[in-house]
Amino acid sequence: MEANHKHLPRPVYGDSPIFQMAVLQLLSVAELIDLDQNILERLSKPKRAMIASVPIRMDNGKTHTFIGYRVQHSLTSGPSKGGMRYHPNVDLGEVAALAMWMTWKCALMNLPFGGAKGGIACDPEKLSMEEKERMTRRFTEEILPIIGPRMDVPAPDLGTDEQTMAWIMDTYSMSVGYACPEIVTGKPIELGGCIGRREATGRGVVYCIMQALAEIDVQPGNATAVVQGFGNVGAVTCQELATRGVKIIGVSDRWGAIANPLGIDVSALNKHIAAGKLLKDFPGARAIDANELLTLECTVLVPAALERQITEKNASKLRCRILAEAANGPTTPDADKILNQSDIFIIPDVLCNAGGVTVSYFEWVQDMQQFFWDESQVNQKLEQLMLKAFQQVRACAKEMNIPMRMAALSLGVRKVAKEKKRRGLYP
Ligand code: NAD
Repeated sequence: MEANHKHLPRPVYGDSPIFQMAVLQLLSVAELIDLDQNILERLSKPKRAMIASVPIRMDNGKTHTFIGYRVQHSLTSGPSKGGMRYHPNVDLGEVAALAMWMTWKCALMNLPFGGAKGGIACDPEKLSMEEKERMTRRFTEEILPIIGPRMDVPAPDLGTDEQTMAWIMDTYSMSVGYACPEIVTGKPIELGGCIGRREATGRGVVYCIMQALAEIDVQPGNATAVVQGFGNVGAVTCQELATRGVKIIGVSDRWGAIANPLGIDVSALNKHIAAGKLLKDFPGARAIDANELLTLECTVLVPAALERQITEKNASKLRCRILAEAANGPTTPDADKILNQSDIFIIPDVLCNAGGVTVSYFEWVQDMQQFFWDESQVNQKLEQLMLKAFQQVRACAKEMNIPMRMAALSLGVRKVAKEKKRRGLYP
């Protein structure tokens, strides 16, 4: 492993802990599958990255310049695909790491895409709708030369939603001169969005959890769950788990955490939040310390917020039987070493949250063909692809006697490596 550290790209991405985490994972996989060093050399660096100043007029009349990023890790298998994140911590290294994970995820799911990611360092909760719209449109304008339905197709992520995608679609369409819904996925249905896309990531997470519960021989009705993050992914995961009889005993968001050992009424919590109230003030549970949430005793722990939440500091304190990584990169490699010594069943992020990009793929296909599917087709195909991927990862983990994460990454890396080898090195 030591010698391989020369692969950590410096200085552009090298000092970012999250990008190092992604590269270290790749190095471990490369060792495991005996990856061709020439291919590793190419896969350990993103194909292309853009940093753009995004100056906008704020509501108070002053100009503020945000910094935006778009990184395309791989274009080998097709257009690159990945979310747009609006969060104060967004930086080049984070976006590059997330782009790399998208490559492995698309490959694992057998989708004809490479990985990309983008984002703007900002706090979306402090921006008005008008400011967000101006920022999104200006950023889209800046990255126009590198995005396109056959080049790079953005989607929502942390801090962005279907309205953000509608603004990107409109800005791009105005530039090319015709309506171009296939430039983004995760759009509103009326603009060519796919029924079930908003719920897809959470649903995919729950399909995986049901498989994992069967593996550990626990009935959903006897299971409890704790979910960190109550945004798009976290809220849908809670709802879908509750529908299947799993008791949600702890939930959090960036403002606080709540717990109720008797179960939290998820529909009532959704209504409470829709009414503009804070999660931590929900009357049907007691407020707890946010750090305490991750170590609550439960059957399933679902980190569905940010990366690097499970570290060497708290990994040994987890009291769950299944760790379902709905967020991207929630577990650090040091924490992974600790968890691999335990009997916690890990559903790694590249598999667990792949439902989002899978239905994004369905949306892109429908937009390209201008032929739309109904909800049952979408959900049926999603479930079919998620179960297939879960079974493949499980079989690989058993066969090679390796952790689920290594199995999922190996399958993804191996597929891209094969394609790179076949295409050769240009010129
Ligand atoms: P979102 O913005 O809709 O929700 C994020 C949630 O996390 C919010 O409830 C927020 O309050 C909470 N949060 C933020 N900081 C927190 C903290 N320190 N502690 C606890 N909660 C905190 O975002 P999302 O789309 O639900 O994405 C969540 C995660 O899932 C991200 O890691 C994202 O990359 C990943 N993901 C999302 C999709 C998708 O389709 N949206 C697909 C794949 C992966």
